[in-house]
Amino acid sequence: MRFRLVIISDYAEEIIEILNDFLRKIFPNTSVSHIIYKDPPKEYYDHFRRQYRADLMLTWIAGFREDLDEITVGILDYDGYVPGLNFVFGVADPYLKTASVYTVRLYRGYDRKIDEIFIERLKKEVLHEIGHVLGLEHCDNRRCVMSFSNSIYEVDLKTYKFCRRCFEKLTKRGILINREMVLT
Ligand SMILES: [Zn+2]
Ligand SMILES: [Zn+2]
Repeated sequence: MRFRLVIISDYAEEIIEILNDFLRKIFPNTSVSHIIYKDPPKEYYDHFRRQYRADLMLTWIAGFREDLDEITVGILDYDGYVPGLNFVFGVADPYLKTASVYTVRLYRGYDRKIDEIFIERLKKEVLHEIGHVLGLEHCDNRRCVMSFSNSIYEVDLKTYKFCRRCFEKLTKRGILINREMVLT
C-alpha cells in the first residue's frame, strides 16, 4: 500500500515523520510520501462559519496523488464541516481513495501545542478516516478506532487500534495489518 500525505499547515515538519512511522507500523510494506501545501482553495472556505467544506475539499486533495494506487490523506490545520453537521474531525471517500483530517479541534486548549495528546488524537482520526477509505464503517466497540466520535471526549475514549472484527474485515479484503495494532 502507498500513502500520499497532503500537509496543509505550518506544523508540517513535526508531524510528517510521526505519521510516516505510524502508518508504516500499522500497514507493513507501506510507503509514505508527502507534499506540503500552504494555500488551500478559497472557494471551499466559508468565511461566515470559518470552516472548510470538507466534502468538496476531498476532490481537491485527491488531485495531489501521483497515481491511482495511492491513498491520499489530507491533514489540514483548519476546521471543517459538511452540510447538516456543525463540524467534522475528518471525512473520507473510498471511491476517491482519499481521507482528510481537520486538526483545529484536536488541540488541547487553544494554544495549538503539538503535544502527546494532540498526536494521539491525530493518529486516531487519521487511521479512522483511512479505515473508511479501506471500506470500513463505524464500529460499536467504543475502544475501536472505527468508533464514531462526535466530541473530543469520544476521540479520547477510543484507541488507535482496530478491534478484532474490523481487523478481520480488512484481512478478508487482503489488507495486511500489524497484529500489534489490533485490540486484545
Ligand atoms: Zn467515521
Ligand atoms: Zn471495530
